[in-house]
Amino acid sequence: MNGSCLFCKIVKGDIPAKIVHQDADVVAFHDIKPQAPTHVLIVPRQHIAKIDDITEFDQLTIGKLVHAGKVVASKLGINHEGYRLVFNNGPAAGQEVYHIHLHVLGGRNFAWPPG
Ligand code: AMP
Ligand code: ZN
Repeated sequence: MNGSCLFCKIVKGDIPAKIVHQDADVVAFHDIKPQAPTHVLIVPRQHIAKIDDITEFDQLTIGKLVHAGKVVASKLGINHEGYRLVFNNGPAAGQEVYHIHLHVLGGRNFAWPPG
């Protein structure tokens, strides 16, 4: 828990979010500024600022985020057409919120390479 962190506040319930899935380790909620018809963020309850900070002890947590991505994609019906999972890490990648989060994007086609 980091008192000044936006996503810690969402995990705690101090800031409202449209939650689509949660369990003992992760919380998934709709992005406030969606970049696709379906855009969900999955965060660990544990505060980790960025992917570059993870250690070998965080492997299970990261796996749980990806697994929750699959569960959410299925729940929201974007699994058959396909979806994109994204972690932005650091300024060059456009990371805005420094509590790791997996973007789950679907409902349209995505370009590759990304912008
Ligand atoms: P990133 O650029 O990877 O750090 O992504 C941060 C994401 O958080 C952006 O897509 C924002 O639209 C989203 N976001 C910021 N504030 C909120 C909020 N209060 N509730 C839901 N999503 C948010
Ligand atoms: Zn946090």
